[in-house]
Amino acid sequence: MSTPARGTFRFVNWTLRPDRDDDAPPVTYAFRCLTLTGNDTECEARSEPSTDPTEPQTWAFGHLREHPEHTSYAEVIERPWVMWREGPA
Ligand SMILES: [Zn+2]
Repeated sequence: MSTPARGTFRFVNWTLRPDRDDDAPPVTYAFRCLTLTGNDTECEARSEPSTDPTEPQTWAFGHLREHPEHTSYAEVIERPWVMWREGPA
């Protein structure tokens, strides 16, 4: 490891990119219920994350069956990104 001298510091450029490496975490999909309840807070019910985007949609239909007035949802997608260091090591 080098020691900074006389105020000179090593410059390192970082690039942020989607992580598509073989060992990267998978992209996951989830649905959450946005319906406002009686005291104006969101229902907060949420499906398990899944790598299959249709599974959370199935969950939403199940949630609607249990709560017929809950008709507003958001899809939550988690996509891994990684910081990539460029420049001298
Ligand atoms: Zn709900």
